[in-house]
Amino acid sequence: MTFPQRLIDGYTAFLRTRLPLEQRRFSELAETGQRPEIMVIGCCDSRVSPEVIFDARPGELFVVRNVANLAPPYTPDGAQRAVSAALEFAVQALKVKHIVVLGHAQCGGIRAFAEDVEPLSPGDFIGHWMKLIEPAARMLGPRGDRPLNGYLAALEQASAVKTLDNLMTFPYVRTLVERGTLALHAAYFGVASGDLSVYQPERGAFVRIAADTPAQAFEAPRF
Ligand SMILES: [Zn+2]
Repeated sequence: MTFPQRLIDGYTAFLRTRLPLEQRRFSELAETGQRPEIMVIGCCDSRVSPEVIFDARPGELFVVRNVANLAPPYTPDGAQRAVSAALEFAVQALKVKHIVVLGHAQCGGIRAFAEDVEPLSPGDFIGHWMKLIEPAARMLGPRGDRPLNGYLAALEQASAVKTLDNLMTFPYVRTLVERGTLALHAAYFGVASGDLSVYQPERGAFVRIAADTPAQAFEAPRF
């Protein structure tokens, strides 16, 4: 097996088109270090790349991706916790001003949780990880006779909002949110439509961003 040709082709295209445009920015960022103001917690899903969706340039987004865009609650137990480490670095060292939890439609992780699928491995890493969705599922109540797709979309959205509650259990996150220097948001990407919506706490719902929507329309973050 060779290094994937697709990556060589993609990198060659990057060298030809994007790098010449961004060369100066890369050099500056290398010298001064990164200073992104926004952290995104996204899903590993290959269709939901935050840099693509937000048309981000190098240095603009600090991204952590995991199955189903989750974050655990604050648990200082000495275990190796990738999301908590990234969060700590983003908030304490980079001093990001916003954290966006980016949920999405047709999330395989959420679906696996809802359908209680068989473990893929004896360690069942996914099963254990997906337990983080339980509070959101409890909040929604049993599926009952709701159509599966509607239920999954509701769970994807509820889980993104609940993940903000987990972020608030980190003492430094809570402190900065209370000081007004950090804001937490939940957003939701519709894979098929390309629609992006943002959670509006006063409405208790996700509201779609239209091309001409001013940022003030989303003034009140969840935290
Ligand atoms: Zn997903």
